[in-house]
Amino acid sequence: MLPSTTNGTVVTEPSGIQIKFASQSSMTSLDNAIPASPTKSISSSLKRNTSDGNLMTTEIKEARVRVIYTGGTIGMMRNERNVLAPIPNALVKRIRKYPNMHDQEYAEKRFGNAASMAPLVLPHVQGELRRVIYQITEYVPILDSSNMTMQDWARIAKDIHQSYEFFDGFVVLHGTDTLSYTASALSFMLENLGKTVIITGSQIPIFETRTDGKDNFTSALIIAGNYVLPEVCVFFGNKLFRGNRTVKISSNALDAFESPNSPPLGRIGVSVDIDYRLIFRPCSVSRFTVHSELDENVGILRIFPSISRSTFQAFLSPPLKGVVLQSFGSGNVPSNRQDILDELKIAADRGVIIINCTQCAKGSVAEIYDTGKVLFDLGVLPGFDMTPEAALTKLSYVLGKAEWSLEEKKQMMQSNLRGELTSASGPKMEEFDLVDAVARSLHLSSPQDLGQLGATLFPAMLNSAVIAGDIPKINNLKSYGADLSGTNQDHRTALHLACHEGKIGIVNHLLLNGVSVHIRDRYDRTPLHEAITTDNHEIIQLLINCGAHLTGSSRGIGEQLCAAAARGSMKRLKSYQLAGADLTQPDPSGRTALHLAALHGHEDIVRFLLPFHENLEETDLLGHTALDYATRAEQNNIVKILNGDILN
Ligand code: ASP
Repeated sequence: MLPSTTNGTVVTEPSGIQIKFASQSSMTSLDNAIPASPTKSISSSLKRNTSDGNLMTTEIKEARVRVIYTGGTIGMMRNERNVLAPIPNALVKRIRKYPNMHDQEYAEKRFGNAASMAPLVLPHVQGELRRVIYQITEYVPILDSSNMTMQDWARIAKDIHQSYEFFDGFVVLHGTDTLSYTASALSFMLENLGKTVIITGSQIPIFETRTDGKDNFTSALIIAGNYVLPEVCVFFGNKLFRGNRTVKISSNALDAFESPNSPPLGRIGVSVDIDYRLIFRPCSVSRFTVHSELDENVGILRIFPSISRSTFQAFLSPPLKGVVLQSFGSGNVPSNRQDILDELKIAADRGVIIINCTQCAKGSVAEIYDTGKVLFDLGVLPGFDMTPEAALTKLSYVLGKAEWSLEEKKQMMQSNLRGELTSASGPKMEEFDLVDAVARSLHLSSPQDLGQLGATLFPAMLNSAVIAGDIPKINNLKSYGADLSGTNQDHRTALHLACHEGKIGIVNHLLLNGVSVHIRDRYDRTPLHEAITTDNHEIIQLLINCGAHLTGSSRGIGEQLCAAAARGSMKRLKSYQLAGADLTQPDPSGRTALHLAALHGHEDIVRFLLPFHENLEETDLLGHTALDYATRAEQNNIVKILNGDILN
């Protein structure tokens, strides 16, 4: 069993961190589940663990993925009557017995005796850097997605928020029927998202002999663990889509989802192929947060020839506040029907936000016919090429923003918030001009050659622009098609370099252009590590404001703190403090920075660290306190400080 406390459960998290949760009222007693919605904030109840099993996290490349299992066909199993049904508490137990979904041998080495209760481990995947360690949270009850409500979306959003810093990515297992609604809603609710969130499900349950569930689930885990894509995505039928662009197009085909107005973000064939230029990145220096207040007074009105005035009247009456009007073709309504036009005008004048979207599966509304223009003149807003699911959930998100005026809400509905729409006025990228020119001179022509050339050239050119501090050059490279979050052969981004070089202007510029703070290089270093290594406090603060946080094993951080204290580096300790480290974190021998400062006679550091220690009796593995270290080293002043004889 996981260690339990009287008021909750402690989950040993793969990095060795323990997360303490309140009682499992809404949870199953599932062995490796993380209870949803802890009532106490995770950060306030963090505990460092000192037993990591046989392997140290620093020796192996791992990614941690939280899986939220809401329900749907994917997890169903045959019951005693041989009928498919959701069976509570069964998914994790079954997966543990599937060698192609759980590597028992690795789990035993990694988690020791606790392996039978520990997180699941995806077997090694050829070509991927990191081993995926995943933990499943099962919702109670397991839901058919047709029964899901806006409260369920809020619950998923909050659960992601509460465990955001402890995982590299998130996978939501979901029924397919309303999956596109949930994906669209979450894309708006998860503000300034910096990590990968993938929603998936299946048409055939995962434990059937012939199934799409296993591929969908494992591919989602691999992508969520190995690729930093700051979007709410849908993975289905070997394709990765932007969630708010998807629609369910088939009730029985395995390719059940489509993204009619926007190409897939990636495809999985023999390898994972992501088109990074399509990734929509939040361009602000702000932390990840969740907006969970949604307004339920929204609806979709699909017009048809001879639709009656009374239908319009009934539909548009209070308390309705927002409506997606599904019009014909490129946004047309019968312009000869003054009665329904009057109803639309009355509603628009009353402050109802009306968004015009097309009934066509593909395409956008445009002001090209008189029958469409008439709507614009009434105050109906263009929905461009938004899917009805995206338009509806966006309305309910925007209407739920109490701090925005009606005018601001209308403005937001027409703006591209999360890549959900293509407006005619959007900037056009001068795609690949530069790469084309080089390719021509090298006589390269295939798309693979071009892609390869871009992936090699752009990071190198970006890096030289970073070193030169040349923002116009960075902008030029972007307009030539460079992905500013692109990585070089060491998986390092321009942001890593800018942080290391201490170029705060460039760091700021890259962050405002959506470069991810979460990408880890080949050595597991994030841009935050680079800023700590150079003790650039201004950059550390900027990264933290943008949602960066410390990663890696807590004992590794303990080692760094001890090393800093031993050489008397106050600056480095303050860098770690700014980055959110627990300054009392021990190293693998149980020594804290205070022990080392006491041993080496750094009085100023002892004084600085003392307030962080509630308990001065903490001992290393040999049973020695910081006071013992000071006494043995004859650091008499420090002995007095630790004994409280000199006021700190
Ligand atoms: N009715 C199911 C659901 O949406 C269908 C599925 O999972 O595919 O939950």
